[in-house]
Amino acid sequence: MKTQIEKKIIFLLIIIFIAFPLFSDKTKKEYEKQRKNMVKSQIKYRGIKDEPVLNAMRNVPRHLFVPKSQRSKSYYDRPLPIGFGQTISQPYIVALMTELLCLTDSSKVLEIGTGSGYQAAVLAEITDEVYTIEIVGKLHKISNETLKNTGYTNVKTKSGDGYFGWEEHAPFDAIIVTCAAEFVPPPLIKQLNIGGVMCIPVGPPFQVQNLVLITKKSEEDIKTEVITYVRFVPLLRD
Ligand code: SAH
Repeated sequence: MKTQIEKKIIFLLIIIFIAFPLFSDKTKKEYEKQRKNMVKSQIKYRGIKDEPVLNAMRNVPRHLFVPKSQRSKSYYDRPLPIGFGQTISQPYIVALMTELLCLTDSSKVLEIGTGSGYQAAVLAEITDEVYTIEIVGKLHKISNETLKNTGYTNVKTKSGDGYFGWEEHAPFDAIIVTCAAEFVPPPLIKQLNIGGVMCIPVGPPFQVQNLVLITKKSEEDIKTEVITYVRFVPLLRD
C-alpha cells in the first residue's frame, strides 16, 4: 500500500512530466516570435532583401548559440559576448555579410572565425557545403557541439589559424571572414574560385574597420569595394 505522501509525490511528478514539454514549447514559440520581429525590424528594415538569407535568419535558433547568461538578449540588435574575449556579431551584420556572398544552394563556402557557430549555421541553411575554422581551441569544441546538437551536421569544422584557409577543400565560391584583418590574407584570395567573392573586415584591431567585398574576376583582376564601417574582434595569429 502506498502512503499518502508517496501518492502525492507521484502525482507531482506526473504534473511536472506533463507541464515541462508544454513550457519548453512555449519558450520555443516565444523565441520564434522574437526571431520574426528581429528579421522585420532589424534586417528587412535596413534593406536586406534576399529571401534565402531572410529565411535563414528566421530559422537559426540564435539563443542556442549564445552562453546561457546572454540568452535573454539573443535577439537584441547588438553583438554579444561568447567568452574568450570574442563576440557573436549583431544579427544585421550576419545577414548583410551573408547577402553579400550571393550564395546558391550549391555554393561551397569557407568561414574564418567560427566563434559560436551561429554564422556557420546561417550559411548552412542556404548551402550544404560549409567549412569553418576557429583558432581558439575551446571555442572550436563548443561550437562544434552546438552545431551538431542543433542539427547542422553539414558544417565541417576545423581548429587552426584561418589565415592559411583550408587548402584541401579549396577553391571556394565564397569566403567570409568574421574577424578583422590588417590586410587581406593572400592564401584566402588564392583559394577563391574565379568569379568567387570574399567578405572581410579590414583595418586596425579594436578600431573602426572597412567591411570589404572582394570579387576575383580572374587570377590578375581582383575587384575591391568598401561596403560600410564595422568593428570586429581582430584576426589572431598562431
Ligand atoms: N562568426 C562568429 C563570430 C566571430 S568572432 C559567430 O557567428 O559567432 C571572431 C572569431 O574569430 C573568434 O571566435 C576568434 O577566436 C576567431 N579568430 C580570430 N582569429 C582567427 C584566425 N586566425 N583563424 C580562425 N579564427 C580566428
